[in-house]
Amino acid sequence: MDCKVTIQIFSGGFLKEIISYEEVEQKLNSILPYLPVHKVIMGWSPDKTLYEKTAAFLAKRNINFYLWFPVFSETGALTELEPLVDYKGEHIRGREEQREENFSFCCPNNLLNIEKILAIFERNFASIPFTGVFLDKIRYPSFANGLEPGNGFNNVFSCFCPHCLEYYKKENFNVDQLKEIHINQTASPLGITGYHSNGNYTFEAPIVSDFFKLKAGIINKSLSHICRCFREKSLGIGFDVFTPFLSTFVGQDLIALSGLCDFIKPMMYRATNAPAGMPFELEAMLRETNADEIKRSSFGKLLNLDLNKKPFDLSFTVKELQDLCASSACPVYAGVEINRKKNIAEVFPGYIEESVMAFTKTGIAGFALSWNLLDAPEENIVKAAGIIKK
Ligand SMILES: [Zn+2]
Repeated sequence: MDCKVTIQIFSGGFLKEIISYEEVEQKLNSILPYLPVHKVIMGWSPDKTLYEKTAAFLAKRNINFYLWFPVFSETGALTELEPLVDYKGEHIRGREEQREENFSFCCPNNLLNIEKILAIFERNFASIPFTGVFLDKIRYPSFANGLEPGNGFNNVFSCFCPHCLEYYKKENFNVDQLKEIHINQTASPLGITGYHSNGNYTFEAPIVSDFFKLKAGIINKSLSHICRCFREKSLGIGFDVFTPFLSTFVGQDLIALSGLCDFIKPMMYRATNAPAGMPFELEAMLRETNADEIKRSSFGKLLNLDLNKKPFDLSFTVKELQDLCASSACPVYAGVEINRKKNIAEVFPGYIEESVMAFTKTGIAGFALSWNLLDAPEENIVKAAGIIKK
C-alpha cells in the first residue's frame, strides 16, 4: 500500500512545555531510517525555538511540519473566551483530564471568540515556517466532558448563550420543544431508532436530530471562516475528528468537514480509556443517557456493535472507516494510538498489528500514528512500521 505516514508529538499545553528540542531530534533520528514519515504534527506549547529548530530539521528531509492547534478548547488558557451555556443558563466547565489539558470549551458560534483564537495563532505561531495546521477540538464537548456524572448530558445539550438563542430563533429552531424532549423516557439512548453510516442516526423525536444538525452546521460555518484565514497564509489544513458514530454528538458532520481540509484524521482509538477513545466516549454516552442493560443492548443491535469486545469492536471500526473513506471529500488518515500509558492507553504490538492490518483495507490514504510519539515504546513503532512498509 502506498501509504502516507503522519506522526504526532505532544509538546505540552499552552501554559507548560514538557519536551526539549533535543528529545524530539533524538526520537526522529531513531525512527526515520525505518519509518517513511510524510508529516510531523506537533503542538501546542508556545515555545518558538522548539518549532523553529524542528522546522529546520524536517525541511532538510522534505517532511511536512504541521502545528497541532486546539481551537474551541484549551485556547481559553491564553485569552478570555465566551463560555458555553447549558440549558439551565449555567456556564459549562470542563473536566481536567491532565494538568496540561483542560477540556473547557468556548462557544463556537461566537465570531469574537474565533477572532481571539486566530489572534493566538498570530501571536505565538505565525512567524514559524509550518507547512500547515492540524486543527483539534473543532467540536462541542462530549458526554465524557462533565466534571461529575450527569454533567456530560448538559455538555452535549449546549449551547444556550444569548448569542446562540438568537441564532436558533433565526433558524426557526424551537428550544422549548427540545427541553421537553430530553427528560422523556425512550426505548434506546436519546431515542435513537437507527444508524446508517457516517454519524447519520435517526431519532424518535425529529427535534433531537434537528438539534445535532444545527450544531454541526455551526461548527462547519465557524470552521469555514477559520480555514479561510489559514488558506490565506498558504497553510495546509488537517482535521482531528471523532470516529463517525460519535461525531454526531459533538457537532461534527465529517463529510461536510472533509470538504474544508486537505486530510481528515478520525481518532480510531480502540484502546484509549480517555477523551476521544472509542470505549471511553461510548461508555460516557451510555452512562449520561441513563442506559440500563436493555437500552445498551438495543443500542448495540442498532449499530451492529458488540459492546463487550475489548479492545473496541474491530469489525464495527473497520465499517466506520470504510463508510467514511467512501464519502469523504479529502484523504482519510486513520488515527491509531502508538503511545502507551498505564490504565489510559494499554497499547502493545499485538493491538497495533490487528488495527493497522485491518485498516489498510478500508480505503484510507494513510495513518496518523498518535497521539504522542515521545511516549511510544520502540516495539510499537517498529511493529507499525513493519506493516505499513509492506
Ligand atoms: Zn453559544
